[in-house]
Amino acid sequence: MKWIARLLLGLGLLLVVLLTGLYCYRPGMAEYQRHRVAARPIPAGALTATWLGVTALLLRDGEHALLVDPFFSRPQGLLPLALNRRIAPDEARIRTWLTRLGVSKLDAVLVSHSHYDHAMDAGLVARLTGARLLGSASTANLGRGAGLPETQLQVIDPGQSYRFGDFELHFIESRHAGATGGAPTGEIGKPLKAPARYLDYKLGGVYSILVAHPQGRVLLHGSAGTLPGALRGERADIVFLGVALIDDLDAYLAEVVDTVGAKRVVPSHWDDFSRPLEEPLRPFPLAVRLDRFFAGMRDRRPDLRVETYGLAEPVELFPSSG
Ligand SMILES: [Zn+2]
Repeated sequence: MKWIARLLLGLGLLLVVLLTGLYCYRPGMAEYQRHRVAARPIPAGALTATWLGVTALLLRDGEHALLVDPFFSRPQGLLPLALNRRIAPDEARIRTWLTRLGVSKLDAVLVSHSHYDHAMDAGLVARLTGARLLGSASTANLGRGAGLPETQLQVIDPGQSYRFGDFELHFIESRHAGATGGAPTGEIGKPLKAPARYLDYKLGGVYSILVAHPQGRVLLHGSAGTLPGALRGERADIVFLGVALIDDLDAYLAEVVDTVGAKRVVPSHWDDFSRPLEEPLRPFPLAVRLDRFFAGMRDRRPDLRVETYGLAEPVELFPSSG
């Protein structure tokens, strides 16, 4: 029987080595740096985007400001997630980041779906900035749990558009990436007060968000699932494209980027959000192959411009000099 014990020990060790290797292998940062848009002075009134990790994005035009999928808290480590521990927004960290970004007031916080890495901070950010919280009925229950009054909650209707100054927003129904369709699926049926468990942040409705502005049109497609035909008839110049859990890159690009006719693509949802935002970015282990995304774009869509943005660096989206 001794040999069985040895064999099992050997297999166990092999598995540990293999998993550690997979966890540590995160290629793509060199390509990320190579595609990075250089920082340049931003003229007053220019439409800017400031990427804040995962699919979090601050959009400003000097008059109005929107924050999409804010997620500053980023609870640390993958083990608490695996164990479904309790998590809560980190108010001190959120305040620090808002100050750093020069945000005291926001018109709206937009949420693409109610998983914790898109929605956990949304209610508190809306409360701290006086913003209206726009999202699914599940997202509204996160807002209620964070103490937002009903006057600041907007359950979106995909047939409607929402206007904040020159920003016009459309929420387009979409699907979450992954074979499970985005576990935990389902709705957040009543106000969810933090701390709550990872799995309490249920999916709710999933949306692509189209931002139409006189300076240009931007599609935010955070999760790499699609509803065939959902984007037909829509136009966008730039797509912020979630690259976690891409199943078939060709089909994904055809359904999203080609359909809206975008010439520029900014990958999002690739960084490891179990690491604090203050630490250097790294691709998410296993679920993301950032190097493959860049290689795939080079091979399949050489005419499209792939851009990456530095964390918390405002980028003028449509500079007049091209
Ligand atoms: Zn998700």
